[in-house]
This record gives sequence, C-alpha cells and structure tokens, in this order.
Amino acid sequence: MGKPTGFMEVARGENPYRDAAARLCDFEDLHISQPADARRAQASRCMNCGVPFCQSDFGCPLHNLIPEWNDLLYRGKAREALERLLQTAPFPEFTGRVCPALCEKACNLEDEALTNRDNELYLIETGFENGWVQPRVPRARTGKRVAVVGSGPSGLAAADLLNRLGHEVTVIERADRAGGLLMYGIPNMKLPKGVVARRIRLMEAEGVRFLLNTEASPEIMGEYDAVILCGGAKKPRALNVAGVFAVDYLTAATRAVLSGSEPVIDAGGRHVVVVGGGDTGNDCVGTALRQGCACVVQLEMMPAPPAERIANNPWPEWPRTLRTDYGQLEAIHRQGSDPRIYETTVRRALPGAVETVKLRGFDPIPGTEQVIPCDLLLIAAGFVGCEAETAAAFGVERNSRGNLLPADGSHRLRDNLFSAGDMRTGQSLVVRALADGRAAAMEVHAFLKG
Ligand SMILES: Cc1cc2nc3c(=O)[nH]c(=O)nc-3n(C[C@H](O)[C@H](O)[C@H](O)COP(=O)(O)OP(=O)(O)OC[C@H]3O[C@@H](n4cnc5c(N)ncnc54)[C@H](O)[C@@H]3O)c2cc1C
Ligand code: SF4
Repeated sequence: MGKPTGFMEVARGENPYRDAAARLCDFEDLHISQPADARRAQASRCMNCGVPFCQSDFGCPLHNLIPEWNDLLYRGKAREALERLLQTAPFPEFTGRVCPALCEKACNLEDEALTNRDNELYLIETGFENGWVQPRVPRARTGKRVAVVGSGPSGLAAADLLNRLGHEVTVIERADRAGGLLMYGIPNMKLPKGVVARRIRLMEAEGVRFLLNTEASPEIMGEYDAVILCGGAKKPRALNVAGVFAVDYLTAATRAVLSGSEPVIDAGGRHVVVVGGGDTGNDCVGTALRQGCACVVQLEMMPAPPAERIANNPWPEWPRTLRTDYGQLEAIHRQGSDPRIYETTVRRALPGAVETVKLRGFDPIPGTEQVIPCDLLLIAAGFVGCEAETAAAFGVERNSRGNLLPADGSHRLRDNLFSAGDMRTGQSLVVRALADGRAAAMEVHAFLKG
C-alpha cells in the first residue's frame, strides 16, 4: 500500500469538466487534466485492500492490477506504473477517457472511490509525452496469418495481442478510418479522434496491417489461417415514427469536426427530440447543443432511477442510480432544466412537431398526449444485434438476441472462424469489448498452435 493514511488525508478528486459555457463552443476534450502532484496524491488513497474488488469480476473486466500501479504512481514511479498497467490494458488512452469505471464503483471506498480512470489516463499520456510508448515489434514471426474483421475496440485488442504473439495480422474495415465506434460513434469531446489515430499509427509501426474502405468477403476464409469477426452490434432498434438513428447522426457530426465542414445532418437552429435516455442519447444531446440547436428534449420510456442504491443493488455491483451526464449538465446550463422526460415516448410525427404520450409500464396512458416542437427526431432507443448481412456472408446464424455467440460460450464459431466484441455479446462497453477481443485472441493463438 502506498500511504496507509492517504485515503483519510486526501479527498477524491476527479479531472474536472471544462466550464459548460466554454466547452459548448467547441468539440474539444471535455476534461481538464491535472498535474503529476495531484495524480500522485490521488494514487496515495489506494488501500490495497485484502480483496481488491476493483480488479475482480465486479470491477475491471480487464482485471487491471489497480492497487499495484496506484502504489507505483504514488511512489513517483510513473514509468513502472505504466508498464504494470500495460500488462493487462491494451489501450488505456481509450478507457481512461470513456470507461464508466466499473472498478471505481466496486472500490471499498464507495462514494469516495479512487480515481482509477483518471490515474490510468495520466499514466498513458505521460508515457506518450515522454516517449516511453514505442512500437513493440515482435522478435519472431510464426508465419500464421489472421484476419480481423472490424477495427473497433474488440478488433484492435485482438489484433494487438495476436501481433505481439508473432502472428501476421490484417484488420479489414469498411469505414474510411479505423476505430469502429471509437472513431464514428463516441463524440470527439469524449474521445478526441487524434487519440484513436495515434494508436492506429503505433499498431501499424508494430506490424499490423489495416485495409480500410474494404468490406470483408467470405473468400478471406481461405486466405488466412484464422478469421475473427468483430463487426459490432450497431443494428438500431427502430420506432413506429421515422427519424434519424443516433449513430448516423453522431457519425455525420464527427465527420464534420474532422473535415471542418458543415455536418450532413445538422441540429443547428432546430428543435431536437432525442428518443432514448441512455448514454447514446446523452451524446446526441451534447452534440446537438454544440451544433446550436434551438432546444433539445430527451424522452425515456422507463421511470427515473432512484437517487441512491436500493436494497437489491448492493455494493460492489454497478449502481443503477440516477446519473446526470455531461450532455444533460450542458442542457441544464443552456436551457435551465434537465432535458430528460421519463415514462414518455413518441406517438406520432406531425408537421414540425411530435405527439408524445406518458406510459405506465409499456402502455400509453390515455389523455396524456402532448404536442412538442420537433424538426429533428433522433432515435437512440438501443441496438438489436449485429448486421444480418455479414453473418449471412460468413454462413453463421445469429442467436435470438441477434449476436454471434457460439453455443458453448467460447469465441469459436466453426473451424477457423471466431467472433468477438459486441458482435458476440451484444452492444456493451469499450472495456468489455477490449477484454473480449483479448480473450478471442488467446483462443485463436491456441488454435493456431494446434
Ligand atoms: C454513440 C455511442 C457511444 C458510446 N459511448 C461509450 C462510452 O462512452 N464508453 C463505453 O465504454 N462504451 C461506449 N459505447 C459502446 C462501445 O462503443 C461499444 O461497446 C464498442 O465500441 C464495441 O466494440 P466492437 O469492436 O465490438 O464494435 P464496433 O466499435 O461497433 O466496431 C465494429 C467495426 O466493424 C466494422 N465492420 C462491420 N462489419 C464489417 C464488414 N463486413 N467488413 C468490414 N468491416 C466491418 C464496422 O465498420 C466497425 O468499424 C458507445 C456506443 C455508442 C453507439
Ligand atoms: S479500464 Fe475501466 S474498469 Fe478497468 S481500471 Fe480502467 S477505468 Fe477501471
């Protein structure tokens, strides 16, 4: 343990958000990073508990060695701390920015939990700044060739590990830039796209080949010794009312930020209604506000979660409590109130408006209809699995949830064909996709070794 009394002397201190008024004027990083002293003080709070729940199944899916690198960080050994972190975490610059930090919710200090996510971000960014992060090219190659279909976090994690193990890896991606939802999905203010591009350049220098603008075809089965399908689960849940799907809107917004042009789908000056009260809906709220929408409302079918944990949701489980994310905070700043309206959905579209209705369970309550202005309806109502086309092309059946999860729970679909990430598990989190990509890579490695 770094400092036995650290957690009693130092209060939890996360990287603060930039001021809402300032950050709404651009798509730059939301957070302000803190200097080395502050990070070391935060690391000193880790008690190295006898049972570190932060790295258990309740906590970090990568089982990051959190107490160990916090201790090294506190002792001023940032480089050693980074090396310890990189033993399990392939891309801390992604998780350090977008992970909901399951580890912190499982921390023994509960509401005063360690700031593991910010600490890990500090370590990797310090590593890049100081030139400690260099291409690690494998000393020997096995001569085995692996194709990874999809360059989201699961594909990148699988490619990274297989490359380190000496296999020749090619990532096949249909989009014009690599990164999957890290690139086109998660907005720039949460994850600046230069950070994604920097990692791709590093992987290329390490020997991973990227084929962009390329649709994976089943012929690759004969060209490679193994193929891993990491195509994601972006098939959106549709509504009875036409609108723009959230990922299409967010992709257009990121393309505009990257090219410096006007977005193809622009919320500027429009009344925006977002259907879906989750994280994707929140990203739409934050993006619409930055584009200068006239106003934004977020509809959620479910009741508002409780402010505090309820009895059947004890620590160290993830707390199913009310969170107010950056986009909602920005809407409160700009509009004076929380944009979320609970137990409500859209019933029908009208010219320049939508009719909403209150719900009891999933049933509309007669007489509660309301007409609200709407000239851009964004649908962020969840996802229903992976694309049927890719599954059909590779001759594999999706399960009842629309995913490619082998019946035995492994990653192997048949012969030399594997799956990983959201395509295997359904829409999840970046950190889970990374863990799943690495697990698939280990299965492929065992298969290739015979
Ligand atoms: C808007 C949004 C915001 C999110 N924010 C967060 C967040 O803040 N934190 C968090 O932890 N998680 C977040 N998530 C969830 C997270 O992004 C996903 O769980 C994660 O990206 C899944 O990774 P993946 O590699 O399985 O798939 P994806 O990231 O979906 O990548 C799949 C890739 O495969 C490619 N592909 C598919 N089929 C083919 C084919 N036939 N040929 C070639 N290429 C193909 C696609 O173009 C895509 O690039 C968010 C999700 C969304 C939608
Ligand atoms: S990846 Fe997420 S859960 Fe794991 S240590 Fe980092 S912030 Fe915590």
